[in-house]
Amino acid sequence: MRKDIFEKMEILSNSAKYDVSCSSSGEPTSFKKGELGATHSSGICHTYTADGRCVSLLKVLLTNFCIYDCAYCINRKSNDEIPRAAFSPRQLADITINFYKRNYIEGLFLSSGIIESEDHTMVLILRTLKILRHEYKFNGYIHVKLIPGCSVELVKEVVALANRVSSNIELPSDASLKLLAPNKTKQKVLQPLKYARDLSLEKQTKPIGMSTQLIVGATPESDKDILKLSSVLYNKGLLKRVYYSAYIPVNTNKHLPALNTKPPMLREHRLYQADWLLRFYDFTWDEIVNDANPNLDEELDPKTFWALNNLQHFPMEINKASKEELLRIPGIGARGVFKIIKARRFKRLSFDDLKKLKISLKKAKYFITCNNEFQREIAFRPDSIKSALVAPKQKLTQPCLFDMFGEF
Ligand code: SF4
Repeated sequence: MRKDIFEKMEILSNSAKYDVSCSSSGEPTSFKKGELGATHSSGICHTYTADGRCVSLLKVLLTNFCIYDCAYCINRKSNDEIPRAAFSPRQLADITINFYKRNYIEGLFLSSGIIESEDHTMVLILRTLKILRHEYKFNGYIHVKLIPGCSVELVKEVVALANRVSSNIELPSDASLKLLAPNKTKQKVLQPLKYARDLSLEKQTKPIGMSTQLIVGATPESDKDILKLSSVLYNKGLLKRVYYSAYIPVNTNKHLPALNTKPPMLREHRLYQADWLLRFYDFTWDEIVNDANPNLDEELDPKTFWALNNLQHFPMEINKASKEELLRIPGIGARGVFKIIKARRFKRLSFDDLKKLKISLKKAKYFITCNNEFQREIAFRPDSIKSALVAPKQKLTQPCLFDMFGEF
């Protein structure tokens, strides 16, 4: 790769790393003589297809120049401390094809800072897409960031060429957006997604997967505010996925956490689990969090958190509960429910039967009965169940392979 292109790649892939709509992780290592492999900061990440395959993507910005000044963003206009660069559509399309031919990547995740205007930036992205799809006949995966406030005609053209589009709301409330991203409004960010949804409903474009990112922990919104927003967006048919991104401080600002604040990774993880309950377990956001409990408990997964706040639904008799009820038992997932329903056609199930079905009882035993019998030694109260579930855990260590075989 030519030096100037290599430098641009380093700058623009580094600037793209805060977007988790597709992500990868790992320790950086550099190439050493006599060794194979190196992880490099230049922008290859992974995402998963609908059938579970992992594909590698070139994750890069077209430019990190930006006319917006979002306080939480490293690429904001007022940040004089980072190097800036921009690819031309031709350069970026050529790099993508070269990487593809060398088998480095299988697709592209393309985002951009905003230069000149929203529509001008979208036109540059569109030009890159057209070179890839029409000139190079590239048929691989392309995820494109829609620029807030861009016009409906451009959205239509992008949707026709991309496999997935997204538009990042970033901050979960209008008040926080107003305070920290003065050029953005929720309306402006969501408009391109609404255009894409409506065009697809009117059969003017193909249906397309859409996503957004919400930053967690930069502003005071509770998990209730975040999950309510996600739920509304799912219900409106605007999104296939919401990505939650623990805020990494990159800037000193009196309205943002201090630079040495650790990203709230566990909170991010609990929000992903709660989001899963919304999408696949028929929970509503206000069952999980509400005014009495506006934040998830970081010590408990959200299903257990819900169960402890709703003990009136338990203990559940495993031989009588409906499929929907079984799905709400902490520690029992969709596969477990399927096995229980299948097995109980032939007999009434006991705790031993559940073990034979390989259903984990670690959490579930506190919330179920089998043939009206319990298998727990503690009081049926939220505080005692929680103490039993989060009792100081044994320190986990990686066992040595030879430990398995005893002494030779
Ligand atoms: S518009 Fe995007 S790139 Fe520009 S400052 Fe805001 S978050 Fe950063």
